[in-house]
This record gives sequence, C-alpha cells and structure tokens, in this order.
Amino acid sequence: MNTSQTLVRKKNKLQKTKIKVREFMSWVRKRNPGESEFLQAVQEVAETVIPIIEKTPRFKGKKILERMTEPERVLIFRIPWCDTKGVIRINRGYRVQMNSAIGPYKGGLRFHPSVNLSILKFLAFEQVFKNALTTLPMGGAKGGADFDPKGRTDGEIMRFCQAFMTELSHHVGPNTDIPAGDIGVGKREIGFLFGQYKRIKNKFVGVITGKSPEYGGSLIRPEATGYGAVYFADEMLETIGENFHQKRVSISGSGNVAQFAIEKIIELGGTVVTVSDSSGYVYDIEGITRKKLDFLMKLKNVKRGRIKEYADKFGCEFYARKKPWRIKVDVAMPCATQNELDEKSAKNLVANGCKVVCEGANMPCTSKAIAVFHKSKILFAPGKSANAGGVSVSGLEISQNSMGYHWSREEVDEKLKEIITNIHTICLQHGKENGYVNYVKGANIAGFLKVADAMLEQGLV
Ligand code: GLU
Repeated sequence: MNTSQTLVRKKNKLQKTKIKVREFMSWVRKRNPGESEFLQAVQEVAETVIPIIEKTPRFKGKKILERMTEPERVLIFRIPWCDTKGVIRINRGYRVQMNSAIGPYKGGLRFHPSVNLSILKFLAFEQVFKNALTTLPMGGAKGGADFDPKGRTDGEIMRFCQAFMTELSHHVGPNTDIPAGDIGVGKREIGFLFGQYKRIKNKFVGVITGKSPEYGGSLIRPEATGYGAVYFADEMLETIGENFHQKRVSISGSGNVAQFAIEKIIELGGTVVTVSDSSGYVYDIEGITRKKLDFLMKLKNVKRGRIKEYADKFGCEFYARKKPWRIKVDVAMPCATQNELDEKSAKNLVANGCKVVCEGANMPCTSKAIAVFHKSKILFAPGKSANAGGVSVSGLEISQNSMGYHWSREEVDEKLKEIITNIHTICLQHGKENGYVNYVKGANIAGFLKVADAMLEQGLV
C-alpha cells in the first residue's frame, strides 16, 4: 500500500469512529435528557475510548461503555431537618453508585445548593476512572445534597448531617460503599456523619474516610488532594525539563484543595499569586507566603469568611465576581469547581505564556477550554488523573482501618507520591501523540481498560 492509500484508510477509520461516537452520544443523551455536566463528562471519555473499543476484539459487542454510563444504582431521598429557629427544612439527598467492578463504591459527598442528579452523575462517572488509576481496589460513587452550609450554625450542620446519614446508613458500609468529603463536607461534617452511622448501626467501622486521626483517619488525608495535584503538575513540568522553582502559579478556590496546593507550591519554591471564592478573586502580586496562608486557612476554615478579607488585610487587589485566569502565570491550577475555566480564559492563559494547566478540582475546564490547550500544545491534566491524591489516601485510610494500624506522615506521603508518579507514567503510556502528551486520552484509556476488563470477567451483572 502506498502512502496516499494509507492516508485514505486512516481518514475513513477516523470518520467511522466519529460516527460511532455520535451514535453513542445520541443514545446517552436520550437516556439522560438535560443532564449537561454528565453528558460533558461522558462525551470526553467516549471520544477517547471508542477508538480503543473499536480496535480491541475482546470489547466488540460487549456494550461496555453503555454499561459504564448507566449507574448501578441511584438513591434519591428526603432529608427533613429543623433549623435553629424551629423552621422545618427539606433537602434532597443522593448517592450515585456508579460502578463496583474493581472494589466497593468510593467517592465523596458534596453539600452545595447547586447539587443535582446531573452533577453527581458526572462526578460519580469521573470517580470510576480516577479510582481505577490509583491502582487501589475502589469502585466509583458520589453523593450529597442540595444543602447550603453557608451561614448555618454548628448545631444546624450536625442536625443536617444526622438526618442525611439516617437514610444513607442503609446503603453504605465498609465493604459496600465508603463515602468521604467533597465541596461543603470537611472534617466537621465527616465527624457528624460518622457519629450518626455508629449510633444507628452500633458498629465502629471504616464506613467513611477523611476522619480525624483520633478516630481512625489517615495522616496526610486533608493535604492529599492539594499535595497530589502539585506532585502531578511537577511531573508534567519535568517532561518539559522544568520544575516549580520560581514559577508563578494561579490558583482558583480557597478550600481544602487550594490551601494544600499552595502549601506544597511554597515548599517547592513556586509563587502562588491568586486565590478565589464564589465572590471573586485576589491578586497577590508578591505571592502568598506561609504566614499569609495561615491567615487564609483561619479565614476559610475557622471564621468561614469571604476572600476579600485577605485582600484587605494584605493590601492586594480584589476583583469581585471575576475569575483569576487573566493573570500572567507559568502554571494554572483550577481548584474550585466544575466549568470555572472557559474557552476565553483558556485563550488568555495561552496568550500569556502559561505552560501547564493542572486540574485540582473535578472538571473545572470546559470542553472548549481543553480544546484550546490541546490545539496550542500546552500541557493539560484532567482532574481524574491530577486530583486523584485525595481518594488515594482515602484508599490508604481504608487499608489502615482494616489492619487496625496506622502509618506515619512520612509513610503516607511516600505512598501518595508513588501513586501519583504511577498515574503520570500510565498517562504518558496511553496519551503520547507525536511528541505531545494528551493526558485526557491517557487517563481515560488507562482507567477504562482496567474497569472494562474487570467487568468483562464478571459477566453481565
Ligand atoms: N471528593 C474527592 C474526590 O473528588 C475524594 C473522594 C474520596 O476520598 O472518596 O476524589
């Protein structure tokens, strides 16, 4: 065959795959109408794994991706509770148990007014791939409620968590489904949720991760998502012969992931110049120091105040209702929430010479933003590979709980680093494209292969 014939064949194959993706997506769209976030997450996976399914005989006709996009179980329940003024409140609770092919369901709980079925299905779907990449035996799930913790007293938070766990306790367990935190669910909420499970079941078991070390939590779990994302970004920088030293970094968010990402970047000699919350962002031109980070942690974790207070305290600029992607940086780490970095922001980052974009949050970049990064060949890592550190240490917490033993900070951090390096290596293995690394492709294919093979071996269940 001459070169022009090979080219025609390649083009035909590409066309056929495109049609397959389109057909598959129209099937998924019909089954999940209006679930835009879920469809966005599925589309990205479909585009990268359908070519693999097409050329792998053992997957032919097995409808693996169709099965993967259909949750094994979805629980939706009422959460009645009473606020401090005696007013009765009703929220909606969810647990999406997406896939248990490689282990018990595992994934966080999100308490936020925006929570709906589409958001939790996208998060659960991404979690399946993310958890597979960690190499630990964890299936994928996600849950939460459309509850807004903002402005609620500790007593109200406790009563809400107890009401939520009263129903959830029937569906979770250390060998069935092990939730953890996510947006709006931190150390305080995990404590209340664990306490209520123990009270209802009369069992002290590792039903939830992200616990305090005093009652079975793993050291480094609070730090793990942020640290892990920075370890991953560091690996990405290494592929272009660089590291964090003297790099300027923009971060969005100011919660758990952002805080510990900043801590690690400071340690590695980088300078973080932005942080944000839902009210806007702060541009700290001189960079966030250890002392300023301590202030930020107190502001967000204890006082639960707004980010403008940081700008007021340290005399830096505050931009209300704006995103930090206009600032010139070498590395950008979106650590707030889904779809917070759009096409225009991506173009800004590229025009300003940004070299690496590494997602600390789940799906913070829109599909169009990712296309901009790929087109301009700047390195981009999706959350399912880059923020897997959190759930990895959750997996290590499960192991420690079942051994009735705990590892030191150094031991956990070492294991976390090793897991992240492995994920990076496997992304390179499956994502190399003519001298460029497509981490989206790498992560999706590697995660898919592991889960798909486990599903095949277990038959139609
Ligand atoms: N919510 C986190 C995530 O997106 C952690 C999940 C867990 O530890 O189970 O991966």
